[in-house]
Amino acid sequence: MDINEKVRVRFAPSPTGALHIGGAHTALFNWLWARHTGGTFILRIEDTDRERSTAEYERTIMDGMKWMGLDWDEGPDVGGAYGPYRQTERMKEYTDTANYLVDQGKAYKEGDAVIFKVPRGEQVTFQDVIYGDISVASEKASMNTDGSIKDIVMIKSDGRPTYNYAAVADDHAMNITTVIRGEDHIANTPKQILIYRALGWTPPQFAHLPMILGGDKKKLSKRHRATSVFEYSGMGYLPEAIFNFLALLGWTPGGDIEIFDRDLAVNKFELSKVTKKPAVFDMKKLDFVNQEHLKAMRPDDRRKAIEPFWRELGLSPGSFAPKYLEDSLALMGGRGKTTKELAEFSDYFLEFGPVKSRYTAEEVTPKERETLNKFFASAFAEFGPDIWDARGLEAFAREWCEKNGASLKEIAMPMRFALSGRRVSPGVFEIASILGREECMKRLSHYGFVR
Ligand code: GLU
Repeated sequence: MDINEKVRVRFAPSPTGALHIGGAHTALFNWLWARHTGGTFILRIEDTDRERSTAEYERTIMDGMKWMGLDWDEGPDVGGAYGPYRQTERMKEYTDTANYLVDQGKAYKEGDAVIFKVPRGEQVTFQDVIYGDISVASEKASMNTDGSIKDIVMIKSDGRPTYNYAAVADDHAMNITTVIRGEDHIANTPKQILIYRALGWTPPQFAHLPMILGGDKKKLSKRHRATSVFEYSGMGYLPEAIFNFLALLGWTPGGDIEIFDRDLAVNKFELSKVTKKPAVFDMKKLDFVNQEHLKAMRPDDRRKAIEPFWRELGLSPGSFAPKYLEDSLALMGGRGKTTKELAEFSDYFLEFGPVKSRYTAEEVTPKERETLNKFFASAFAEFGPDIWDARGLEAFAREWCEKNGASLKEIAMPMRFALSGRRVSPGVFEIASILGREECMKRLSHYGFVR
């Protein structure tokens, strides 16, 4: 690749499923390289498998990319100077080019199929940006299981081009400078280079991304790979966290930086720094990355991200002031690995129902109840709605306990349960202050702690 040439990279999914983790990883690295170099990111739809390709899958792939913030400069929907961007719209070109090779004696027909004749005695060498030098004898570039040479089908008898051929024709037609794709395509590369050569075309640069391993260190299974990015979204993972986490599979911005945003990644990304060492898809790491992004979010963004999960729990965030919800979430202080978890942990700010379902106050003894009654009677007398604040309440509680020979815990623990239904929660006086005097009164009365 010419050093002055503008980078043109492509993500070339087959629309036979949603955007899964492997695909998202490949798309991300192409996007990063395009954005880092000020180049062009192209979306190409490899839809020649007409039985399995659907317009619906094409759409979900695009939606998945948009969800992750990966925008493309050329593609089937936005057009561009190198279209068409769907392989089924380029069929004539495939046939013409294949026939040209037949005329040249470099390919032959077998019925309606066109087969590329693998040349003998050539060495296929390429310098993979990530894997380094790779060199294969042409005889070994395409083999049958018994080791004999296997000529390469270009056009199948049904008239459709094969992947190895169509990808070459397209990458050439679209002036792709660098092919960035999964390592599972390394073995295809020598075959593709032979086709470039036969056509007198200069192959692009190749960069194969490292293999992704599951948490068990085994190659990420079909099941994992098939997990669509939207399933992660449904589990409460943020798009910026998935972006960050996938970028770390094979790359790091350097230093000790593990948590970063798009801008930093674009800024620091270097294709040559990507490692070929297999990368482990570690769910614990994903949780960590997600939690960090959740903590760092702007309050209104965080609230908007949590709202669908509150709704999923049957709660109605729409009936609260945004500021109230944002303050409630701020109080959660980094609790919750996912938006889903955070929604669950904070449910009591939106409704008393979940509290009642978790807490019945059964174990509170009559004596404890008497103390609570006394305490809350004076607390509610002391604090009107406009001075109902966390610090004042806490100071009052401490003083009251001291005077009445009670421990703060005797008050705070049942109070925590009555307000949140949880054993673990943020500071109970802070919760009380956010809920407000009236709501606290309601909840505490329900349990008979105020009379
Ligand atoms: N459609 C191929 C795939 O999804 C594209 C491979 C390539 O990038 O060349 O694996």
